[in-house]
Amino acid sequence: MNQPDFSLSAEVPPYLEGLNPAQRAAVEALDGPVLVLAGAGTGKTRVLTARLVHLLATGKALPAQILAVTFTNKAAGEVRARVSEMLGRSVDGWFLGTFHALAARMLRPHAELVGLKPTFTILDEDDQIRLIKQLLAAENIDDKKSPARAVLAIISRWKDRGLLPEDIRHESKGGFADGKVPKIYALYQQRLKDLNACDFGDLLLHHLTILKTHPDILAEAQNRFLYILVDEYQDTNTAQYLWLRLLAQARKNICCVGDEDQSIYGWRGAEVGNILRFEEDFPGASVVRLEQNYRSTGHILAAASHVIANNKMRLGKTLWTSADMGEPVRVQSLWDGEEEARWICDEIESYQRKGVALSEVAVMVRAGFQTRAFEERFIQLGIPYRVLVGARFYERAEVRDAMAYMRLLALPEDDLAFERIVNVPKRGVGPAALQQLHGYARSAHVSLMEATARLVETDELKPKLRQTLRRFSESFSRWRGLLQTLPHSEVAQIVLDDSGYTGMWQADKSPEAPGKLDNLKELVGAMAEFDTLFAFLEHVSLVMEATGNAEGEQVSLMTLHGAKGLEFDLVFLPGWEEEIFPSRRSIDENGEAGLEEERRLAYVGITRAKRRAVISYVANRLLYGNWINAIPSRFIEELPEPHILRHSTIGNAINSHMRPSAFERKEHVPSLWDQIKAGQSHSASRQVKQIEGRATVIPTPRNSDEPNVGDKVFHEKFGHGFVRRADHDKLEVYFERKGVMKVMARFVKKVGTEA
Ligand code: ATP
Ligand code: MG
Repeated sequence: MNQPDFSLSAEVPPYLEGLNPAQRAAVEALDGPVLVLAGAGTGKTRVLTARLVHLLATGKALPAQILAVTFTNKAAGEVRARVSEMLGRSVDGWFLGTFHALAARMLRPHAELVGLKPTFTILDEDDQIRLIKQLLAAENIDDKKSPARAVLAIISRWKDRGLLPEDIRHESKGGFADGKVPKIYALYQQRLKDLNACDFGDLLLHHLTILKTHPDILAEAQNRFLYILVDEYQDTNTAQYLWLRLLAQARKNICCVGDEDQSIYGWRGAEVGNILRFEEDFPGASVVRLEQNYRSTGHILAAASHVIANNKMRLGKTLWTSADMGEPVRVQSLWDGEEEARWICDEIESYQRKGVALSEVAVMVRAGFQTRAFEERFIQLGIPYRVLVGARFYERAEVRDAMAYMRLLALPEDDLAFERIVNVPKRGVGPAALQQLHGYARSAHVSLMEATARLVETDELKPKLRQTLRRFSESFSRWRGLLQTLPHSEVAQIVLDDSGYTGMWQADKSPEAPGKLDNLKELVGAMAEFDTLFAFLEHVSLVMEATGNAEGEQVSLMTLHGAKGLEFDLVFLPGWEEEIFPSRRSIDENGEAGLEEERRLAYVGITRAKRRAVISYVANRLLYGNWINAIPSRFIEELPEPHILRHSTIGNAINSHMRPSAFERKEHVPSLWDQIKAGQSHSASRQVKQIEGRATVIPTPRNSDEPNVGDKVFHEKFGHGFVRRADHDKLEVYFERKGVMKVMARFVKKVGTEA
């Protein structure tokens, strides 16, 4: 390599210029263990990148002698681009990527040592679940009580912790999966070997096993990698940690950068303890603290630091910026979710008019289902956007499944929809059965639905299949009938419940399942905004078409988890309400630790903003098809007053005689969860029934909380009015602005009784 050796020259190479002394020390301390433990935006990733350049430019290492780990493939791409730019040439042949990618690459040449061929395949989640299901069936374990996904989740956590089947203590009989998960784990690993396959967890685990059991291979790897660099170290799991520790043990040239305040993947097995233990693992390690934040203005930084200071499980750190104070963090309260989406999009447009590039704007939500409201609004206004990490709302698998049910409900001849869901959830309609249906449909020139309806009247089909398909076809006829009398969103809920689709995800104990159920509820809630099922289906197909061709400048929409490491001029943080953020589920499952992880997410969110951060919350949230009086997030209370500016549009929206919103009264208004627990409210009690596993909707008698004839009500679209007629959950309301309208009881709020 013909590289100048900067270390001999007094001249400072360009990639070191502009680094502050602490950063520069972290870059130049090439030998020995180094931990850069520092807050958001202090240049950790920049230090890591400069260090890579420094190693290459000074000839300390060849690209193939460096192991550099990033949290995502995208981050790896960015580091690659930055290094090439700084070096002025492209770099090939190095080991830069995520743990998975790197482990896969290093495992292949030695795959035989763990019973695989170098051509092994990497299974996706569907394949994994299918395998586990077969194993559960062979062990006579009821897949309904102990769903395959839940079993897989347990096995994956073991793998995250670096545990092999022989490391697992066998459980006593009875309980979940009859205590047989350890056995299933062993069988699953055997099946994977027979198939010459691996799952994601195996990539690292197998390589770790090889390193532990083959000293020659370990020595070769330890000799090869002169330098190891790891970004986002606070989110490594145990298996990743053990792997790094082994690889680094001989040379100890390992540099990890991270921030314990940004550890947000505990639920996926990350161990924040790894970063806190670094000095013990590598005695003599130099720990570099970076305190200057280069990303955000003063108010933003102060707000973030103040919130995170409420966490007990942290080391604590000082952060400062030489940037000006900038604008205080704006805290905006709004009437409801629709207004929130509208307001944020209006703000985005007005910033765009002032010259802010859309690529510098991001909207960060706590949970996936929350993207829908923004996606709809972006599309309506023609604001180009991209969803980072994960699919757009209507492209998510469970939403597509549910939409297939809806399409088939509206259009029995939709064969694609039929194929998608005839066996989802599993009904025993396999490929052979489908082929039979296809055969008949083609010859009779009818749809698959029609073919089914005709064939079940004959003896063509095997009795069991015939019975299943008869039920399937009759259910759709029944549901179609319901459309005549019930609102389509209610029918949609019935379809998803009665078909077993909701139940399939309820029984699913994997970490993804609750998010999927939330998306389904969000979908049903969204349907209610349309007059008919057709109008809704048309809307979705237009939405899908419109989103296909966004290029160039785009607003970024993402979850807080997907926002790690990124930065934008302008960041919107909507939905800061109890239940949503902090997520009630996190707190229920992990108590104080869960709350602290949520607070770290708040810290990650605020610190993504360079110049402007806008936090918003609403007084009324349509959450899973139910209106709730939302309570502002406790994190809003934790924001420091001198650094925020509160705005409200609610005052304009509420008439003085109206019931004030929860946050104005500062009292506890029953949340959806409270209502469900207490069995109150029509919609809530229906949910209880779903939770109890009874899928049918039983009409609930009206109680005094529900709007009745003569009551004053408020509807978020139509405003104030009086109930003229009440029929079960349908109301006829005279609205001051709109005249007489028919509405669903659960979409109006009773605000008083006519004197
Ligand atoms: P996070 O914790 O969010 O991952 P980080 O510590 O990795 O943040 P970087 O993303 O590396 O921080 O840097 C934040 C911003 O500050 C970037 O825009 C980076 O270019 C800039 N920056 C970092 N160090 C300096 C410096 N010495 N001079 C000027 N800008 C800097
Ligand atoms: Mg970073």
